[in-house]
Amino acid sequence: MYDLLVRDADLLVTMDGDDVPGGWIAVSGGTVAAIGGPGAEPAAAKTLSAKGSLVTPGLVNTHQHLFQNLTRGNAAAMNVDLFDWLKALYPMWAGLDEEAVEVSTYVGLAELALGGCTTSMDMLYVHTGPNFIDAQVRAAQEVGIRFHATRGSMCLSQKDGGLAPDSVVQTPDEILADSERLVDKYHDRTPGAMVQIGLAPCALALVTPELMRDTAELAERLDVRLHTHLSEVRAEDEYCARVFGKRPVEVFEDVGWGTDRAWVAHCVFPNADEIRRLGQWGTGVAHCPTPTLMRGAGPTPVPELRTAGVPVGIGCDSSTHSAHASMWLEAHTALVALKGRSGAGAISARDVLEMATTGSAACLGRADLGRIRVGAPADLVVWELNPVAFAGAHSDLVEAWLRCGPVQARHTIVQGAPVVESGELRLPRLDDMLARHRRISRRLQGLAG
Ligand SMILES: [Zn+2]
Repeated sequence: MYDLLVRDADLLVTMDGDDVPGGWIAVSGGTVAAIGGPGAEPAAAKTLSAKGSLVTPGLVNTHQHLFQNLTRGNAAAMNVDLFDWLKALYPMWAGLDEEAVEVSTYVGLAELALGGCTTSMDMLYVHTGPNFIDAQVRAAQEVGIRFHATRGSMCLSQKDGGLAPDSVVQTPDEILADSERLVDKYHDRTPGAMVQIGLAPCALALVTPELMRDTAELAERLDVRLHTHLSEVRAEDEYCARVFGKRPVEVFEDVGWGTDRAWVAHCVFPNADEIRRLGQWGTGVAHCPTPTLMRGAGPTPVPELRTAGVPVGIGCDSSTHSAHASMWLEAHTALVALKGRSGAGAISARDVLEMATTGSAACLGRADLGRIRVGAPADLVVWELNPVAFAGAHSDLVEAWLRCGPVQARHTIVQGAPVVESGELRLPRLDDMLARHRRISRRLQGLAG
């Protein structure tokens, strides 16, 4: 008797071999125990129907700032460039405390689960109090989503000629000590790990080269992953030219980050030689099309990066004017943006699904995720193909999935447990958390009540 049976999918896409019409998946002890086609379905303690649905591996989010859902849509930060957006929001984020971090993480991960995400990273780089990442891990464990917290950092502030107020940055010693504490406390190295920790200086313009180098050395010693923003806006090119006399990717290499231990967010402006070097290093790229398009920077050169051997994943980012946390929506936007940039034949929905599953898992260093495979963690999504929105879609359900809709998850299953079931989050404290989120977000934005 298995723990769970997901049965009768219109199409099961495992990303690990052939697609299976009418497919089923049996789960035992949090891992995939058996996969099959119509008939011969085994018995299980619990059964979920996938009739009228597409089943895929759970989507993996490679770039996120969950705390920013506390200030989304704030009028002072709309319709401006990245650096002005940051300057408008830093004073609000300076009011973050441990409760604000826990509640925003909980709500953000719940939103991600509704959009078919089963594993998310997060990059929290404002530490105005202690134990913020501890609060995030608590929230992730309660929601039940697989979580890769990265210990974000900023050490340059306005007194150094930087963008951030002095109150939201820390010293390199504080950052490195807390990074090591968090890895010791939470980083799980076993296959199927639910929590891992990475190290994430925010961007070249927000930390010193010494902190970048020390962080890379610490990651090497602790054997954890590295993450940062790289080549996100033209202003970063100008900053690196002025301060270092170099391009961002050159500085990145100089400080010891040219390695397959690192993955970076955005990477919109690499030249041909830099793309080749990123491929040689095996450094991954998180493609987050909405924020880069919103800033007028255009999408990342994904076809060229993939051809060069760069692992490319999808990330929501949630730091833009739209600030959603739906991996389906970001994958859809990636399809549209990359066709707009590179032509109709440059990318398919299947390519984007591959990026959002196996590509993203590679960025996070998780070879055990991204595929539905016997023995792998049972992370999968049952996508309901709404009969109105999908009327007429018969020949290629993966292409239809990313073009029709919008689509939300009918069931989101992580480690064999439904986080979303029949379209509903299974979170008893959700209403309480949303009420707290409203109170905290209004406080940070200086609004009454
Ligand atoms: Zn970001």
